Amino acid sequence: MEYTTQMDAAKKGMVTNAMRTVAQKENIPAEKVRQLVAAGQAVIPCNKNHASLSPSGVGSALKTKINVNLGTSRDCRDLDMELEKVKSAVDMGTEAIMDLSSCGDTQKFRRMLTQQCPAIIGTVPIYDAVVYYHKALKDITTEEWLDIVRMHAQDGVDFMTIHCGINRETAQKFKRNKRLMNIVSRGGSIIFAWMMMTGKENPFYEHFDEVLDICQQYDVTLSLGDACRPGCLADGTDASQIEELITLGELTKRAWAKNVQVMIEGPGHMPLDQIAANMEIEKTLCHGAPFYVLGPIVTDIAPGYDHITSAIGGALAAWKGAAFLCYVTPAEHLRLPDLQDVKEGIIAARIAAHVADIAKGVPGAADWDRDMGQARRELDWEKIFSLSIDPEKARRYRAASQPEKEDTCTMCGNFCAVKNMNRILDGEVVSIFNE
Ligand code: SF4
Repeated sequence: MEYTTQMDAAKKGMVTNAMRTVAQKENIPAEKVRQLVAAGQAVIPCNKNHASLSPSGVGSALKTKINVNLGTSRDCRDLDMELEKVKSAVDMGTEAIMDLSSCGDTQKFRRMLTQQCPAIIGTVPIYDAVVYYHKALKDITTEEWLDIVRMHAQDGVDFMTIHCGINRETAQKFKRNKRLMNIVSRGGSIIFAWMMMTGKENPFYEHFDEVLDICQQYDVTLSLGDACRPGCLADGTDASQIEELITLGELTKRAWAKNVQVMIEGPGHMPLDQIAANMEIEKTLCHGAPFYVLGPIVTDIAPGYDHITSAIGGALAAWKGAAFLCYVTPAEHLRLPDLQDVKEGIIAARIAAHVADIAKGVPGAADWDRDMGQARRELDWEKIFSLSIDPEKARRYRAASQPEKEDTCTMCGNFCAVKNMNRILDGEVVSIFNE
């Protein structure tokens, strides 16, 4: 039996190799993966032209996945440096890389990724259109917008962020309901500007069926972009954000009718107390399609520490239903991240994902923490390092401050509660003072 996309295969009752790989990674039956994909509750982004891919599934019933944004910009166009970041991100456990290149030979870098990288590759074709056509934004034609989607699909991109939800209606709602930070989505601001300058409807909304035909041909997963994601806490859960989400829910059903896999992109910046409700709203309006959140960043006042503000929001979001966390680095809002920023962003996102997986009861998630507890109880420092999410940092910190008593650390020394409890429970004398 033949199939077009993973969703098509799933609906026909077929278990594909990609589904088997996902099932193995998740430690669940392949039939369960098939059911989730058929129902649209999980996606397996896997373009037929991405030969080096090791497929992963994205859905709230699966382990929480993370994405790392990379790519060149006008100020930082070193391809080798970006490739080094990609390799390091994959080594550190990211399941997806979004190539957000906006300068230079973007196709070269994109093709390098889909030829070599085992992670899921995502792009935002809207940025690339501006670079590729090398002309004023208002002069890009509807056909050219669609052609760039086709080019990315041919290049093997597994998922594409396309801002289809900011149509004329949403734009009117946005203008009537003033926001503090307007539109902060890069792709969203480009399409909004194009619509304002040309007076035309959003080409991706107007020609959504053509977008779907391309996605179906290559099995590209659509990541329906949130042009109106709030860019500051004051804009959280406002009329524009919800209006756009309603449209994305309608488009989700149209995509599923053509067996195109769909994720929904979400906030953004938002107070902690609004996150759980936002997860519910998305699940309802978008019919259970996996939610891909960019944060949420839960306070606006911490530039330099937004890997922390987003990890707090991301942990809560993933616990309450988000399936996919976009990492945020300490460089967010300030500059293009360097290698160290990327590392810190990935670790923060992985912590958030893991914290959520424990709370969700993902099989095996809590075992990691139990093992760490046991290693600490035994003061088994090598095991502590090997179980650490960042073993290199854990080892470096301990080495930088050597304790007098080798089995303790310089935090408490002789007062080491763990050591003293082990000894007293073993019937030894504990004097502390003269040891
Ligand atoms: S010295 Fe204190 S911090 Fe260090 S291992 Fe012992 S109890 Fe823990």
